[in-house]
Amino acid sequence: MNKELIICPGETIKELLETYNYTQKDLANKLGLELKTVNEILNGRGVITFETAIKLGIIFNMPASFWNNLEFNYRKDLKDLEEAERAEQDYKRIEIAYKELVKRNKIEMSKEKADKVATFKSFMEVVNLDDIEVEYEKAVACRKARMKEFDVISLMAWIQCGIKKTREAISNIFDKEKVLKIIPEIKKLTLLENQQEALIKLKTICADIGIVLSYEKAFPNTGINGIAKWVTPDKAFIQVSDRGKKADTFWFTFMHELGHIIEGKKKKFFIDEECRASEGDEERIANDFAIKKLIENKKGYEKLKQNWTIDEIKKFAKENGIHEGIVAGMISHDNNIYDNVGLNKMRRKLDFDTICI
Ligand SMILES: [Zn+2]
Repeated sequence: MNKELIICPGETIKELLETYNYTQKDLANKLGLELKTVNEILNGRGVITFETAIKLGIIFNMPASFWNNLEFNYRKDLKDLEEAERAEQDYKRIEIAYKELVKRNKIEMSKEKADKVATFKSFMEVVNLDDIEVEYEKAVACRKARMKEFDVISLMAWIQCGIKKTREAISNIFDKEKVLKIIPEIKKLTLLENQQEALIKLKTICADIGIVLSYEKAFPNTGINGIAKWVTPDKAFIQVSDRGKKADTFWFTFMHELGHIIEGKKKKFFIDEECRASEGDEERIANDFAIKKLIENKKGYEKLKQNWTIDEIKKFAKENGIHEGIVAGMISHDNNIYDNVGLNKMRRKLDFDTICI
């Protein structure tokens, strides 16, 4: 709809004034209104009240309903236009996230933009899109560098996919002692040849210790690795993406998020947009937790980091009971080497597209 095509009732009155040879002042006197009020009605800013409609009906010999309908249709057209413009703007904000949710069968595809926005808001459980950004600001966002096209709405939609799962997920009451005791079991999973099986087992272990674990591929323009959040005081929630498509990144991110749950405050929630970001105390604590739990021999690792060989890495991984790819990934990361064939060979692939979890 175009604004120029919306005609206010004042235009009809203007034509009648010409036909009847009345001035605006004449009409104001007949209606018992201020000239200013009549002028506002003529230019569409003022409203024709029910009372004025009756008076106009008498003066121009037509039913009052004619004026009421004219006024009603005019206001409705204005409202529709306003809503269409808002839907246009809102849709621009949600477009990437909306398309991704449709692609993943999380929401139904709608035709009109206003319906798309309404469906999206309903999925996100918000009335205003601004509330999504407000919620994001509350989180401890851990990042090294933000991608250029970063889309906060997509990031929050990615989280919401998991939050919805927590409602149906059955899990025990969170038990910190149980969590710490089970870590050796989790480490063993990194060694499993079949990582699909490992991820299924990890989910079961998490449910047993009071953590709802969700796997969700990263949404475009989010750079998301993982999130840790408490959904109730007794139920924690961790979601991990397969960003980077490497098993070691997955395991490190999981342990890092577990670190946030174990060491962080319950009221906070943590968004990790870039793995192993070093800024902030919470980040350091979660990273230390991940490193300490994945490898017991931290001193040995520091030594290995300075002077590594493929054989030494393999030996170190074996001694520490984790998959060699994790040590290779840590060495790559800490030394900023990503093009070493030997190291990359040890790092196994992990892709949620090709495994069924
Ligand atoms: Zn973090």
